[in-house]
Amino acid sequence: MHRNVLNLTAYKVLGSNESEHDYHIKAETAVPVTICSNCRSREVVGYGRVEVLVHDLPMHGKRVGIYVDARRFKCKSCGKTFMEHLPEVNASRWMTERLVKWIGQRSMTNTFTGIAEEIGVTEGTIRNVFSDYVNELERTVKFETPKWMGIDEIHIIKKPRAVISNLHNNTAINLLPNRNKKTIATYLSSLKDRDTVQYVAMDMWRPYREAVNEVIPDAKVVVDKFHVVRMANVAMESVRKSLRAELSPKQRRGLMHDRFVLLRRQSQLTDQENFNLDGWTKNYPLLGEGYRLKEEFFNIYQAPSKQQAQMLYEQWLKSIPAELRGHYEPIITAWSNWQPYILEYFNHPITNAYTESLNSLIRVLNRLGRGYSFEALRAKILFSRGSHKIVQNRPKFDRREAQYDVAFMGYATLNDLPPSAQPKEEPKNYGVDIDKLVAMIERGEI
Ligand SMILES: [Zn+2]
Repeated sequence: MHRNVLNLTAYKVLGSNESEHDYHIKAETAVPVTICSNCRSREVVGYGRVEVLVHDLPMHGKRVGIYVDARRFKCKSCGKTFMEHLPEVNASRWMTERLVKWIGQRSMTNTFTGIAEEIGVTEGTIRNVFSDYVNELERTVKFETPKWMGIDEIHIIKKPRAVISNLHNNTAINLLPNRNKKTIATYLSSLKDRDTVQYVAMDMWRPYREAVNEVIPDAKVVVDKFHVVRMANVAMESVRKSLRAELSPKQRRGLMHDRFVLLRRQSQLTDQENFNLDGWTKNYPLLGEGYRLKEEFFNIYQAPSKQQAQMLYEQWLKSIPAELRGHYEPIITAWSNWQPYILEYFNHPITNAYTESLNSLIRVLNRLGRGYSFEALRAKILFSRGSHKIVQNRPKFDRREAQYDVAFMGYATLNDLPPSAQPKEEPKNYGVDIDKLVAMIERGEI
């Protein structure tokens, strides 16, 4: 085998053999470092050899093990014995540094089991290397703290997880393993300049609200409109299902077929759909009432002020027929528990506009999720290159700070300065553009 086959200049290849799956390469350091690792003395003498196995990048589809014939030394100054330092080797993992880096990157696209087989180490080792890699990303990739934050839910790997988003930029900035108050609060506390957050749009999940009130008390909580109106559709479905007992099998199939008409806004119905709707509501007045209640509940959101909205709600509440009241209890309870936060929307109409994007994310993740841990999927979502919304702000021209240059008889703008004198501003990273990420996953790029 060629001396340079490893392409590690610090090592000399002494020999090699290969089996069906593996390369075994014997090597030693080209120039041993002969400084005592204990006292830095150069007064050392040889003290035998020891063979250590160092894993390296796979080659030609085979796993590579480097058997380093490492020298041992004894220090004449302090009397300690030690093994020579192995350059380009990660001593805590017994892997080459380049393999450690490769595993980190590869964990974003391959399962731990797959990588473990490829390299010939345990899955646990891959997990540990990956965890270091993610910690490093976490330390270096910092997303801007949003002024308008969204807290949403996404169901992946068998559990609901909290997605934190930036509503101005339509980006995701974190994915938390669960929706517990402690998890949310710890995350919020870790934000740099957390007082930047002015509004938080969320669904009606009390731990979110409690965490926000506790950690960023000045931020206003706004219940996401989508989560409120969705309840009117759930009630509509409940009314429809309660009618089934009265119907013949044929009618039941018909109503099942037309259920989407009931869930659509009246203004969006086609003539045919309006005709179908009419048929049902004339024959089944309670279904008609259910439809009216759904439409009127949606219409509350057209109110010009929170006082108007509350008034419309109260009218709506009074108009619920006693026979249907049970179907609307969840809405009534939610409104009474969350009223100020639901109405806050009418002061600041912010919503999580990217619900659709999150749904497509869930779809692609479910397709690809098998074999991945939550941590791996999370890293894939948050740290995949190319999906971040990065803005390089040009330095601002500010007259008051511009330099007055007598020689030029005018203002020198910052752009007139040589590049080295331009104030350097770090590019701002606003987080993950979900649509971009979904497209990348669909193209198989990550
Ligand atoms: Zn020494």
